[in-house]
Amino acid sequence: MNLKEFIRDVQDFPKPGIGFKDITPLLLNPQALQEGLNQFVKLVEGKKLDKVVSMESRGFFFGPLIANAIGAGFVPVRKPNKLPYETIQQEYALEYGTDILEMHVDAIQKGDKVLIHDDVLATGGTAEAVVKMVEKAGGEVVQLDFLIDLTFLNGKEKLEGYTINSLIKY
Ligand code: 5GP
Repeated sequence: MNLKEFIRDVQDFPKPGIGFKDITPLLLNPQALQEGLNQFVKLVEGKKLDKVVSMESRGFFFGPLIANAIGAGFVPVRKPNKLPYETIQQEYALEYGTDILEMHVDAIQKGDKVLIHDDVLATGGTAEAVVKMVEKAGGEVVQLDFLIDLTFLNGKEKLEGYTINSLIKY
């Protein structure tokens, strides 16, 4: 099964000039959803992982499925003031200005082996911020697994030294 067939290109979303990769057709198809999960689980075969950490909001589709399938806990990373309990923060650069991501202070224990998952690796800024936050909390980033890598944006360059996988490449 070719998962790429289930990704829809939406032009001018969320802004004019941007071609957005819409992953919802893949989520909608039961066989494609299962195949995606199977491929993600295969990527961590034989590795002992304590936590899967995913970013708001499209990381939340596969993140908990992967965590559940491999017997790990799931950690949501969110935009500021969304998480109810005490948080740690990580600032990161956007095209214009900066943004902040948050995670609960007790989500990662020192020495936790962590898989970071998100739907799309674009410029890598988001993933880099999550790596920093996980490490600040004492976690060890084992690898980063994405559904899609927009390779022409060179996101991997921001994540040098880390193991990075993606199921679909453009
Ligand atoms: P980055 O920080 O790597 O530039 O951007 C990655 C973040 O932006 C991810 O959290 C991802 O959800 C979102 N993103 C950027 N471009 C796309 C896209 O074309 N499709 C989807 N689904 N998400 C995108």
